[in-house]
Amino acid sequence: MITIPGLPFTKDALEPYISSKTLDFHYGKHHNAYVVNTNKLLENHALKDKTLEEIIESTAGDSSQAGLFNNAAQVWNHTFYWNSIKPKGGGQPTGKIADRINKDLGGYDKFVESFQTAGVGQFGSGWAWLVVNKNGKLEVTKTANADTPLAHGLKPVLTMDVWEHAYYLDYQNRRPDYVKSFMENLLNWDFANSNI
Ligand code: MN
Repeated sequence: MITIPGLPFTKDALEPYISSKTLDFHYGKHHNAYVVNTNKLLENHALKDKTLEEIIESTAGDSSQAGLFNNAAQVWNHTFYWNSIKPKGGGQPTGKIADRINKDLGGYDKFVESFQTAGVGQFGSGWAWLVVNKNGKLEVTKTANADTPLAHGLKPVLTMDVWEHAYYLDYQNRRPDYVKSFMENLLNWDFANSNI
């Protein structure tokens, strides 16, 4: 049985960058539906007592389990997304992530450029990610639809949801404005530091 974790902030805490109305739908409807669907698919399933991470890793790349993978990965990705943002976030990194960004990515400005390019350039629905790659270095990447770095042996550090449901009520078709606002006002560096 998979449960939906509580939001780490109140529904109006991200305004004006993400509205409480967006959170009503994005958390209350979309994220919740992925949880409900995952539980339905787990009824009488061999993986029903496994953790969410184990379910994702076991079903990744198995076309006969695509429904379960997609829903379980979306549950995980959304929980990770809520932790990747916070009120009064964004801007320059602090702590050890700042040093790692300098060393592995060539500095904050280059990180912003590549993370924004990943988010804006993801064709259709998906996610932009900061991950630790298999060589132990930070890397910016993107995934389509429900796909997640967990399924590829990468360690997620931060994510940005670029599905239209993440921004359409607040920004309509202006995904680049949502992405810019995410970088400047929402990104949670404390969470990033806890993941490296
Ligand atoms: Mn979403």
